[in-house]
Amino acid sequence: MSLGILFIISAPSGTGKSSLIKGLLKSQFLNNIKASISHTTRSIRPGELHGKDYYFISKREFKIMIQQESFLEYAKVFNHYYGTSREFIEDMLHSGIDVFLDIDWQGAKQIRYKIPKSKSIFLLPPSKDILYKRLRNRGQDSDIVIAKRMEQAVDEMEHYLEYDYLIINDDFEKAINDLITIISSEHLCLLHQKHKYNILISNLLKR
Ligand code: 5GP
Repeated sequence: MSLGILFIISAPSGTGKSSLIKGLLKSQFLNNIKASISHTTRSIRPGELHGKDYYFISKREFKIMIQQESFLEYAKVFNHYYGTSREFIEDMLHSGIDVFLDIDWQGAKQIRYKIPKSKSIFLLPPSKDILYKRLRNRGQDSDIVIAKRMEQAVDEMEHYLEYDYLIINDDFEKAINDLITIISSEHLCLLHQKHKYNILISNLLKR
């Protein structure tokens, strides 16, 4: 069995990343793909569920998890800690399941270093105006928080060149198709196929 592929997706908040990942997981064109659920110290927002959107934990619990090396990566984003569970990722990839990580550029950098075969995708909004409207329409954050997030969006977007792929999230269906194309192409690349079909290939090459 071949190993799953680890996909990283980063974008500033309000780019529609979470909806895209949800849409992607429902796609009939893909199977064997899971999204990682991060741990965070930020407070739960209306509509969010513990264990579905995030594992909401205290700073103390987060620090213990750091000491126990439970995170494959972690970072401080908007004054809160966010981290990816090492065990979940390793279990999934070894079972041949692809994993999607919705993490920021700092986490992406750590994952690229630890898992060089991972593939990273950056998602950009179609304009600054649309990004602002999306942040407002969520109705989850105060004006001050939105203004701060707009500023931080530029900090995040400055890192787009560190990624393997770039998607502009103008049209939801088109962006989902772009994601599916990336995942399918990565599965067809020589290294992955060679590993998956090694018995077939060695039989074909026998004289
Ligand atoms: P939010 O609080 O809006 O859900 O997420 C804020 C930011 O934290 C987003 O850019 C998101 O990608 C990032 N993030 C979420 N989970 C993780 C994680 O486990 N690690 C890192 N490094 N960033 C994360």
